Amino acid sequence: MLQRIYARYGARFKLRYNATDISWESYVQEPVSPSPGTGLVCDAFYTLHDTGGHAESPLRMGVIEQALIGEALMPALTPITPRDATPQEIRLVHSAQYLQTVRNDVHFGSGELSTGDTLLSEYSFEVALRAVGGVLAAVDEVVAGRLRNAFCAVRPPGHHATPVAGMGFCIFNNIAIAARYAQSHHKIGKILIVDWDVHHGNGTQDAFYDDDSVLFFSVHQHPWYPGSGLRNETGTGRGLGNTINAPLPAGSGHREIFSEFEMRLAPAVQRFRPELILISAGFDSRIDDPLGRFELVDSDFAELTRMLRTWANESGNGRLVSVLEGGYNLRTLGPVVAAHVQTLMENGC
Ligand SMILES: [Zn+2]
Repeated sequence: MLQRIYARYGARFKLRYNATDISWESYVQEPVSPSPGTGLVCDAFYTLHDTGGHAESPLRMGVIEQALIGEALMPALTPITPRDATPQEIRLVHSAQYLQTVRNDVHFGSGELSTGDTLLSEYSFEVALRAVGGVLAAVDEVVAGRLRNAFCAVRPPGHHATPVAGMGFCIFNNIAIAARYAQSHHKIGKILIVDWDVHHGNGTQDAFYDDDSVLFFSVHQHPWYPGSGLRNETGTGRGLGNTINAPLPAGSGHREIFSEFEMRLAPAVQRFRPELILISAGFDSRIDDPLGRFELVDSDFAELTRMLRTWANESGNGRLVSVLEGGYNLRTLGPVVAAHVQTLMENGC
C-alpha cells in the first residue's frame, strides 16, 4: 500500500506525512494532486544560427545551460523537445511574402536579412523555425496542464520581427506566433504578453495593435533602439487601450520599472484577466548589459517573475510561458536566467 502511494505522490506525500499527524486513511481519501512542474526548452540546435562574433551569439545558450546545471536546477526541470514550426504556423503572424523572403535570403547565402539588421548563417532559416516550434511545444504542455509553466531558451530572439519584416536580430516573432497559436489551436481567449527586454517589442506591438484579445505591455529604455514604444502608442480600433508602453530613460532600475508594473500594468491585468501569460524575457535590461542601460539586478527579475506567476495563478490556472529575447553579457546572463527559472519553479503564489 505504502509503496503504491509513494509511486503515485512521491516526495510530496512524504513531506506532508512528516509535517502533520494526518492519518493515512484521511490523506488517501483526499490526495493532493501532484503539482505539474516547470518545463525547459533548451537544445543544441539553437547554436547553429552562428553569425560570427555577433552579440546575439550561440554562446548565450551555453552560459544559460551551464548556470541551470550549476544551480542544480536542471534535474527538476522537465525537458520539452522542440519541433519545427510549420509554414502555416509562421503565417499566423507573418505574411507569405516575408516568409519567402527569409527562405530566399538564407538559401542564396545572403549574410544579412534583406528587411533589416539581422545577420544570417547557413542554418538560420531552420533554426528560426525551431525557435518558434520550441515555444509552441511549450505552449502545448502548459495549456494541456502537463506543466505549470515553462522557460524557452531559444534563439534567434523574436520581439522586433513585425508581420512583414525581421529586424534587430529577430527573424520570426516567436512570442506573437505562440499567442496566435494558443488562440487558434487551444482556444485560449485572452493573453497577456509582458516584454521586459530593454528594447521596445515593436514587432509584437504591431502584431496585436488593433486586437482586444491580447494585452501587450512593454517596459523599455527610451530613447533607444528601435525608437518606438511611446506612451501615446496605446492601440487602435478594438485594441485601443490594450497596448501599454512604459518608455524610461537610461539609468532606470527597480524603482522606476516596478512602479510601471504596479501602477499601470497591475490594474490593467485585474480588468483583463488573462487566461495565459507570455513573457518576452529579455535580460538586456539587467545592469551591465552591453546593449542597454537599465539597472535591474537578478533579484528584481525574480520578483517580477513572482508577480507574473501570481497573476497567472489568479486568472489563468498558473499558465505562463517565458521566452528568451535579449541579454548579451555572457558573464551575467546565466545567473539571471537561473534566478528567473528558479522562481518559475517555486510552489504556490
Ligand atoms: Zn533587447
